[in-house]
Amino acid sequence: MKPKSVIVIGAGIGGITAAIHLARGGLRVTVVEKNACPGGRCNRCIREGHQFDTGPTLFVMPQLYEAEFGALGTTMHEQLDLQRVDPTYHLVFDDGSQLLLTSDMASMQEQLESIQPGSFQGLKAYLQEGERHYQLVLEKMVNCDFRRATDFFNLGNLGLIFRLKPLINHYRNMSAYFDDPCLKSAFTFQDLYTGLSPFEAPATYSMMPYTELAHGVWYPKGGMYRVVESLMDLAYQDGVEFTFDSSVTQIDTNSRHVRGVLLKDGSCLDADVVLANADLPYVCQRLLPQDRRVEALSRKRFSCSAISFFWGINKTYEALDPHTLFLADDYRENFEHITRGLGLPANPTIYLHAPVRLDPTMAPPGQDTLTAIIPVGHLSESRKQDWDELRDEARQHVFRRLRTLGINDIEAHIKFEETYTPLSWAERYNLMKGSTHGLSHTLTQMAYFRPSNRHPRYQNLYFVGASTHPGTGIPTAMVSGRLVAKRITDDLRL
Ligand SMILES: Cc1cc2nc3c(=O)[nH]c(=O)nc-3n(C[C@H](O)[C@H](O)[C@H](O)COP(=O)(O)OP(=O)(O)OC[C@H]3O[C@@H](n4cnc5c(N)ncnc54)[C@H](O)[C@@H]3O)c2cc1C
Repeated sequence: MKPKSVIVIGAGIGGITAAIHLARGGLRVTVVEKNACPGGRCNRCIREGHQFDTGPTLFVMPQLYEAEFGALGTTMHEQLDLQRVDPTYHLVFDDGSQLLLTSDMASMQEQLESIQPGSFQGLKAYLQEGERHYQLVLEKMVNCDFRRATDFFNLGNLGLIFRLKPLINHYRNMSAYFDDPCLKSAFTFQDLYTGLSPFEAPATYSMMPYTELAHGVWYPKGGMYRVVESLMDLAYQDGVEFTFDSSVTQIDTNSRHVRGVLLKDGSCLDADVVLANADLPYVCQRLLPQDRRVEALSRKRFSCSAISFFWGINKTYEALDPHTLFLADDYRENFEHITRGLGLPANPTIYLHAPVRLDPTMAPPGQDTLTAIIPVGHLSESRKQDWDELRDEARQHVFRRLRTLGINDIEAHIKFEETYTPLSWAERYNLMKGSTHGLSHTLTQMAYFRPSNRHPRYQNLYFVGASTHPGTGIPTAMVSGRLVAKRITDDLRL
């Protein structure tokens, strides 16, 4: 019998992972990608011997990667040469004070007690709560396939409303553990990695600082793009076909089903199933006929965006650790400005990544490869946003904050610069509003409330990736790929 065919729109992490599982399930799988290379947001740029991870730089939740590579019949360590990054972050506050987040609890005790006496006890209690949240979220929200309402609304999940603190805001919850505002920010800034402000994220997200300290932040030799390369090797071995530089312009539909896709060059590809890895709000708005769902999606909350600088530097800066974070005193205002004002805060949070300390091959000898990421509001149709101007302002903020570490001469040593603004994210990967993490992960857009992996109307159209279930992040996209592939093969009764 002729195998059923699947077209996957997009070669992001979720799309490639799903393609592998589907090919192994006996389907004929073709991935159509608009860009010249796979990876989507998890991408890289190589210039003059400098290699930049242009999206993710943090390998967190290693247990999830381990499980997902396991589900693909291999192991994480077989695929990736990993080293632990500890201290995980070098935090620099406005007044120049610093904190090294580390799994070495003796060092944490010494540092925390010097900031706020008694606060180490607070950390221990906070990490216990984080562990509880981590286990529950993985079991009840991430590794679950919510096909029916009863998969979520059932007796077993009733207690989650108390145990996961979903109704308490993360920052407010910090008062139970710390008084010092620097410590409150040191253990909530991680919410940004899901594109959320700690002032609107549920306290559930204490799981992030927990997993970073307990399971570690890691670095794959060769950079985060190694994850994409290893998945691509597996996909090719399983016979998945890829077409690059090929944009889908429309999904061909009838009243209840899809028949295939139309490409930019005018050709049509028929398929039994279409799986969209391109971001879900974009797919609904641009590739499908307009309906009420599109209206509903436009009312949903989108995550923040980012301005990124990629600098090739002709010297190395010893003062920089692999992951440096400059946090602002006016923490609340900072996030308000991003989520409500949709612009660049007056004193923005800045993340700096310097991978050469972990992997000397990321720059020519004696030189540095630096990435600065500044979270900003997403694109808005109603507000004035001059991204060239905001990018130039953001650059000056990075230089200003670097001076607090004694780095005064960086401008003179930048050999070249590449930049991304929210417009770049929108244009490169078709992310609606340039939101780097797609639909936001607020309470009403998590778990069962996140758009499902299957379209409610078109029975053979499925979704995988950041804006569908379970949500943003590389290992999460791998989970999404596994879950949706299982759903497709179940629906096809394979
Ligand atoms: C700046 C930044 C930093 C991040 N940091 C981290 C981190 O440190 N750790 C972490 O785990 N995660 C991080 N993330 C999140 C992570 O990168 C994403 O959640 C994940 O890569 C999303 O994968 P996805 O499967 O949703 O696919 P996507 O990456 O969205 O890929 C979708 C693909 O579809 C393609 N496409 C779109 N439209 C079409 C079309 N019409 N036709 C054909 N193809 C199309 C796109 O080009 C793209 O290749 C970060 C993201 C960003 C942007």
